[in-house]
Amino acid sequence: MSQTIAIVGRPNVGKSALFNRLAGRRIAIVHDQPGVTRDRVSAEVEWRGRPFTLIDTGGIGLRPGEKTHDILVAATRQQVELAVQSAAVIFFVVDIREGLVPLDEELAEWLRASGKPVLVVANKADTPEWDAQTVEFAKLGFDRVFAVSAEHGRGLEPLMRTALALL
Ligand code: GDP
Ligand code: MG
Repeated sequence: MSQTIAIVGRPNVGKSALFNRLAGRRIAIVHDQPGVTRDRVSAEVEWRGRPFTLIDTGGIGLRPGEKTHDILVAATRQQVELAVQSAAVIFFVVDIREGLVPLDEELAEWLRASGKPVLVVANKADTPEWDAQTVEFAKLGFDRVFAVSAEHGRGLEPLMRTALALL
């Protein structure tokens, strides 16, 4: 099996949209409602002739009535853990329009502990004016932040070039 890139992040940042964009197909469900992806969704995809396995995840995030602490022990978290464990590279998706939120920082801590290479994907940068907002995510402490738009297919080249070099 080819090496795996796992897409991780809080709900509604556009993980499934990114998955579908890279897979070139509508496999994952893109939804306005946070937390729609409950199960792991994976696909064998190719970028510029290089095959890899892409995994979309869901399940990490606050749903109504939940507290952060509950999330940390939630069973739904297990599928994300499995995805991270099996991955050679992590795409940590954040929302460039909303900016950095506490849950992003919590996830960053957890991802750092995995020891895997993490590329921060600042999604929803639909136009170049958004790109400068990537600086805010430098606070997360990872080396690289990429401004992309999953919906418009913007910014994917540098992200994928870097990711494939790490596989
Ligand atoms: P997930 O919960 O992280 O999987 O997020 P989804 O892929 O389901 O997307 C959540 C919402 O963000 C949906 O309303 C999408 O249409 C929207 N979205 C996803 N990617 C983009 C993007 O690149 N630009 C904009 N403007 N909206 C996006
Ligand atoms: Mg999703």
